Amino acid sequence: MINKMEYSWVEIDLSALVHNLNEVRRVVAPKVEICAVVKADAYGHGAEKIAETLADNGVSKFAVANLKEGKQLRQAGIPGSIILLQPSFPEEAQEIIDFHLTPTVLTLDFAKKLDQISKKRNKSYPVHIKVDTGMGRLGVSLDSFWEFVEKIKNLKNLKIEGVFSHFAKAHSDNDFSEKQLRLFKNLIKGSENKGIHIPCRHMANSAGILNYPDSHFNLVRPGVILYGLYPDDAKEYPKKISLKPVMSLKSRIIFAKEVKAGCGLSYNHTYHLTKKAVIATLPIGYSHGYSRVLSNKTEIIFRGKKYPQTGTICMDSLLVNLGKAEPERGEEVVLMGRQGRAIITAEEIAKKSGTINYEITCRFGMNAEKEYI
Ligand SMILES: *Cc1c(COP(=O)(O)O)cnc(C)c1O
Repeated sequence: MINKMEYSWVEIDLSALVHNLNEVRRVVAPKVEICAVVKADAYGHGAEKIAETLADNGVSKFAVANLKEGKQLRQAGIPGSIILLQPSFPEEAQEIIDFHLTPTVLTLDFAKKLDQISKKRNKSYPVHIKVDTGMGRLGVSLDSFWEFVEKIKNLKNLKIEGVFSHFAKAHSDNDFSEKQLRLFKNLIKGSENKGIHIPCRHMANSAGILNYPDSHFNLVRPGVILYGLYPDDAKEYPKKISLKPVMSLKSRIIFAKEVKAGCGLSYNHTYHLTKKAVIATLPIGYSHGYSRVLSNKTEIIFRGKKYPQTGTICMDSLLVNLGKAEPERGEEVVLMGRQGRAIITAEEIAKKSGTINYEITCRFGMNAEKEYI
């Protein structure tokens, strides 16, 4: 529960999360498993609570970036597989095993260390190998893939449970994505031909799930769509899906007064009142992820209606022009989300900030108190 004295917070709608999960299930075949991507504190939504809710709703695979994030989930009691998408350092091998995390193996030094430690257990330890089919980021390069697989196979205390790749342009470039997909498929065919059976194959992020049913294999890795956001809101997807945003950003009025026509507002007076108005102060600013770049560009919802945010956004406050309204001190306002008929989306804020919806929820969630409903 939110402390009623809380100034600003993000509201996380867990029923929307479950709705989105079911939508993902609807567009993938029943045999396809879902690996929920909950890295970066579940895109700002709070990884523990998000993973717990997904686990309660039948998700048994999760993906995070690294040991630190994986450990946090285990300590919160999250069961199932937790895949570490980024490679780890050899010094992290012991804890990875202690916390039963599933690492991505891209380097031999780490693999050897893991092998050495897992020797003491009498069960081979599962790992995934990532291959770079065109992202140009993490992953073993295609040319050295087989050589690397042979080396890992020689480490008898490891077993290659999964192989995966990542789309670079699944939301924007069909030809390139099809090419990546072809390369990955060839690799899987090649491994079967060589008698190397890797049970878990995965490639699809949210855009892959929506655009390329062929990329689902037996596991998909949805991130942003679970949080109710589209990977690219401008696009029509072949797989129709109806999402509900999970995060809202809320605050309350801590002060309001009538200001005279002609007055300048906030630092540098970037805004002047053309007529007298009630100016309310909200206790939220760029230190809460509400970027200063948004100054004089956004709106805030008060009593179900939008009002302009005015003047330069400060570190921990911003101003709203409420015109003739008479707000009560402590009254709730919405900076992102819905109130009455009015709605402000992450995409609108992203566009005005020069970024994408993914970054908006990460930012807002970073330091905020969270209220789960
Ligand atoms: C972040 C990430 C995902 C999820 O991406 P979305 O676009 O949010 O669905 C999937 N796979 C990898 C490797 C990632 O890093």
